[in-house]
Amino acid sequence: MKNIAAKLSPEEYEKNFAELHPALTANQATAEANRCLFCFDSPCMNACPTHIDIATFIKKIATGNVRGSAKTILESNWIALTCAKACPVDELCEGACVYNERGENPIEIGRLQRYAIDRYFEAGGARQTEVDVIVPVGPDARNVLYTLVFGLGAALAGLAGLMQAPILTVQIGMGENILILAFVVIVIGGIGSIRGALVGAVLVGAVDTLGRTLLQQGLRELLPAQWASAAGPALASIAVYLFMAAVLVWRPQGLFGARG
Ligand code: SF4
Repeated sequence: MKNIAAKLSPEEYEKNFAELHPALTANQATAEANRCLFCFDSPCMNACPTHIDIATFIKKIATGNVRGSAKTILESNWIALTCAKACPVDELCEGACVYNERGENPIEIGRLQRYAIDRYFEAGGARQTEVDVIVPVGPDARNVLYTLVFGLGAALAGLAGLMQAPILTVQIGMGENILILAFVVIVIGGIGSIRGALVGAVLVGAVDTLGRTLLQQGLRELLPAQWASAAGPALASIAVYLFMAAVLVWRPQGLFGARG
């Protein structure tokens, strides 16, 4: 097919395909960031489809923390560089900026976003320890997974209750013993730690079993039989709580921290 369209000149290409939101220099970005009023209710953030914490990332640019600013943006939007260049900011965040109501130019949020992300990737982008900030299956996907696991666990517990109801007397509080033991396991392992819960469960099971077997036998070797039979069951029943107290004296946060 014959190409009948005239070729554009380099100047026309430059003009026709110019960027919507050209890059800011460091001075321009700092000056623009310092115009922001850091509104408490941030109408710009509410207007952003990805709810980037706009006031915070602009504040970080204003204080020279450009890397922190980029991280704030990427936590909500991992294609932030594309959005900074292509988003219809006039209709979204910049359109909601309070400066519009004063008849003044809104904060150039799109260009500030581009400034922060450009500097971030120029400096090497994400380091290994920060990779979960920009990987799409990041914290949000994990939260969904935890919610699904929680929901599945609750459903299985409900099913177990349904199956036991015909053969047991179901009453309020019948699971309290298990709940208390579960609490002990969680405290020993470290609140919020899945690994801690697993290790805590094994330790509590071992301590409880040993307390009900070897402890009583050991007391019979050390104490008169009458005392041993009185003290043995009592000590066995509180062995896990004594163990929990010992762990907390040693490590008040439990065996593993919240991230263990
Ligand atoms: S609405 Fe405008 S002035 Fe207020 S926080 Fe957002 S960008 Fe800053």
